[in-house]
Amino acid sequence: MRGTFTAAICPTPGCGRPVRPAYWTVGKRCARCRQRVRRQGDARQEPVRRHEPRKTVTRLKRVVKRLGKVEVVERAFRQIAGNLLIVTVDDLPQPAPNGKAKPWTNLWMQRALEEVERVSGDVEAVASGYLVVAMFFMQTDERPRRFVSDEAFRFQLVRMWRSQTSLSVGSTYDAKRDRMTGWYKTTPVRVVQYLADVLTTAYVPVVGYMTTLIKKDEEQRRLLLPE
Ligand SMILES: [Zn+2]
Repeated sequence: MRGTFTAAICPTPGCGRPVRPAYWTVGKRCARCRQRVRRQGDARQEPVRRHEPRKTVTRLKRVVKRLGKVEVVERAFRQIAGNLLIVTVDDLPQPAPNGKAKPWTNLWMQRALEEVERVSGDVEAVASGYLVVAMFFMQTDERPRRFVSDEAFRFQLVRMWRSQTSLSVGSTYDAKRDRMTGWYKTTPVRVVQYLADVLTTAYVPVVGYMTTLIKKDEEQRRLLLPE
């Protein structure tokens, strides 16, 4: 009978949008939330904007400078960027012993590595390094609530890193406004996940080093400041 169907509601907390009624959408999220999961790593994650990590970057740079470690840190960032550039498909898991082709998962790993090469080749190593490390400090120290889940953080990390280069932004002509508009090119979820792994592995030593520097800096300043 008409009108007896209850419209399905998106299961994302606080969303409440109707889900297009069709048998394959049972228990599925609405179109908006599905897109959020694909792009942001979680339906509830608001994308981190480019200005947000700036304060943290400034803070990190200040600490590094105060402790006279500018050279050390910059050298580390350049080395990481260099390492990222030379990671190649050969570093991926090798073919199964039976000599058959590489596992299909390597297709997206390969795509991720191509992305690493494109972005690393196009951005400045030191600026990129500070940005990536600042994202980790935003999550652990400064604004942990800004990320609704670890997966969401990983997506924002990759997003920030990619958005340094115009290679990650497409453009279309907007006739109404008579200008070009940019849009963020979405990468397949598995490519993003692998990129997050690569970035985490590459930068984690500097994140550790930076943590030590921050502690040291805090101690020194406590000694200098009167009670
Ligand atoms: Zn929804």
